[in-house]
Amino acid sequence: MYDTIIIGAGPAGMTAALYAARSNLKVALLDRGIYGGQMNNTAEIENYPGYDHISGPELAEKMFLPLEKFGVEYLYGQVIRVELDGAVKRVVTEDETLEAHTLVLAMGAQHRSLGVPGEDIYNSRGVSYCAVCDGAFFRGQDLLVVGGGDSAVEEALYLTQFANTVTIVHRRDELRAQKIIQERAFANEKIQFIWDSVVEEIKGDDTKVQEVLVRNLKTDEVTSHAFGGVFIYVGLDPMTDAVADLGICDDQGWIVTDEQMATSQAGIFAIGDIRQKQLRQITTAVGDGAVAGQQVYHYVTEHVS
Ligand code: FAD
Ligand code: NAP
Repeated sequence: MYDTIIIGAGPAGMTAALYAARSNLKVALLDRGIYGGQMNNTAEIENYPGYDHISGPELAEKMFLPLEKFGVEYLYGQVIRVELDGAVKRVVTEDETLEAHTLVLAMGAQHRSLGVPGEDIYNSRGVSYCAVCDGAFFRGQDLLVVGGGDSAVEEALYLTQFANTVTIVHRRDELRAQKIIQERAFANEKIQFIWDSVVEEIKGDDTKVQEVLVRNLKTDEVTSHAFGGVFIYVGLDPMTDAVADLGICDDQGWIVTDEQMATSQAGIFAIGDIRQKQLRQITTAVGDGAVAGQQVYHYVTEHVS
């Protein structure tokens, strides 16, 4: 029986683990893959205090290293569901069932798909959701980036080091991305924009992407463009399938908490991108994690004899 099981080893989960373990609790940190979460897909971070800039995997490593020192057990496993048996919380993975007095849900969010013809067929054959992972395969090519948020514009900038040109197609005529990121994109000679438009279809020769049909939302005109790759950044969906039955999510699947990161289920906390919140960043994930780590300590002290 653990005092707490933290599901998800992104920045939120790793911080909660640090705070709970330093309070002398028995802590398991569980992830279906390597620690770091979305930071592993981020080439350069320049808005994490204390670092001028740092790569995502490097920051992940720095966050993980102290956890072993404080006795956090790092476990691999894909959580399929969470069951409640009175005050006991059961975490069911593909291989085992773990029990704890408290749970911290830190599963984050995952990229959304566009849902257009050709997207699935050419996934990994020109369609990508990760510039850091796949960008280097597209040297000298003309690339399309879909979306107008921080991810789309920042990753478009990243892709310019490999690509011949990078075109951003956005459904409005104004970007959502932070101003400083926008300004860099507007100043970059390799970046072009297609405004007020959406991707209609991704086409190719069955082995790789060659052409993208784009529809202008104002005129309804559909135009054909030659691209060797399409990078899709149209937002995130919460990773809440495993806890969908607990009655703690809003109608879009984000988990609702109070300021102490407590959900409506006693002893279950939620932190980071998986929460209903305004600003999804590493700094806010880390802040949530610190609060939850401390709240877990209070809960165990008050409720577990
Ligand atoms: P995540 O980092 O998403 O981690 C969640 C973890 O949970 C993952 O490791 C996942 O494997 C695990 N998990 C999920 N489901 C399960 C399950 N069922 N069972 C077991 N494990 C599971 N923020 C910044 O502040 N600065 C930036 O420069 C920046 N750049 C970004 C660039 C991109 C391309 C993207 C997509 C995001 C960027 N962000 C940036 C946002 C930042 O990465 C996130 O806000 C942050 O990682 C959220 O942390 P988290 O711990 O809540 O979730
Ligand atoms: P996001 O902020 O939700 O932006 C998604 C973008 O995709 C929006 O521009 C949206 O258009 C567009 N879009 C949504 N659905 C679409 C569809 N079906 N077709 C076409 N376009 C569509 O998502 P994100 O950029 O992935 O960022 C996610 C979170 O991570 C944010 O909180 C962000 O701040 C954070 N992040 C931070 C950094 C950083 O700090 N450097 C970097 C990356 C990400 P509209 O604008 O019209 O809604």
